[in-house]
Amino acid sequence: MQQPDTREIMTLNRIVVGSVIVIFLVVIAIYLLVFSGKTGQYSDFEDYVFGTYIQIRISSKVNPSTVSKAIFNEMKRLEKKYDTYSEGSIIYQLNHADDWVEVDDETLALVDLALKYARQTEGAFDPALGRVIDLWGFSKFTQREAEGGNFTVPTLSEIRDALANSGYTKIAIDYVSKKIKTNGVWIDLGGMLKGYALKRGYQIAKEYDPKCHGFIQAGGQIMILGPKYNKANWVVGIRDPRGQPDENVGFVYLKEGSIATSGDYERFFIVDGVRYHHLIDPKNGLPASGAISATIICDDPVTADVFSTAAFVLGEKTWLFTRTAFPTYGAEVFLVTPKQKILKTDNFALYEQADR
Ligand code: ADP
Ligand code: MG
Repeated sequence: MQQPDTREIMTLNRIVVGSVIVIFLVVIAIYLLVFSGKTGQYSDFEDYVFGTYIQIRISSKVNPSTVSKAIFNEMKRLEKKYDTYSEGSIIYQLNHADDWVEVDDETLALVDLALKYARQTEGAFDPALGRVIDLWGFSKFTQREAEGGNFTVPTLSEIRDALANSGYTKIAIDYVSKKIKTNGVWIDLGGMLKGYALKRGYQIAKEYDPKCHGFIQAGGQIMILGPKYNKANWVVGIRDPRGQPDENVGFVYLKEGSIATSGDYERFFIVDGVRYHHLIDPKNGLPASGAISATIICDDPVTADVFSTAAFVLGEKTWLFTRTAFPTYGAEVFLVTPKQKILKTDNFALYEQADR
């Protein structure tokens, strides 16, 4: 047998070593592409607005920190402008005036929208419950709780008096001279402000980079900016209202739009073993008792925010109205009853399919 000469052996060695290096580099490249490349696409930011933490996860061509700062600034502007209790706010002015008050376009549009939602939900969402909410102490709740919170249950006659000076039908709008008159009620936009802030957040992100993706989370609501890695669904858990914060009663898969949950576990106090929470039934001025959580999926985040409060208030007894009316406004509902039964609108199941 002929012996291979040393030159041939060296060439063979070089080929083997070369191939090993190439394979090694390819493996590293694939690893970087699949793992670090993609997960590293997103930047996370957090700030505290509306008495809750706001998280932004975003991938954009424009510096993500710049985009996030602009979003947080806008949210803080809205918080200040529509704070029921600060004397400089337009809501404070409206609530403490005996006469017509001239307002800016944004406020006129927001109050007009609030009245429209009140009519659509047959008054279950009522933006003129400020006096009742104040009586229960649910305004500035986080702050009061941090200070040791001395919550008491109001008497029925106190509730009756507050209700007598509440209700959206008392609000008058003059669209020509851009004026609003509250006629004694207190406006409280707490049930739609976070949704509106998310809508503005989305608009700002898209102005900076129309192709940006990720999401903004504000308390119990999420606004999707774009699909995960620009192609996949975001998996969103629906929190178990009687479980730990990380326990879920369902999952949905979303590439766009918004999902909002209103629950009796968000803001509440307990007196003599009874839980009193912040979602008020405008019919009697008491915390609504027909549900323990309500989740809405809707393209529009303001509708999602408002209808989650409304679906909660309407509860199990009025479910037939909710399941018939809400989808006509593009809102799909997932309701958890006091006995923890789950009720869903017909098309909700579409969002529960992982391979949509
Ligand atoms: P959270 O603000 O805790 O996320 P929601 O979005 O459901 O919860 O809004 C609840 C807020 O809406 C309350 O804190 C209160 O300011 C206001 N609110 C309570 N009951 C009603 C109601 N029936 N209609 C309109 N707003 C309400
Ligand atoms: Mg809401």
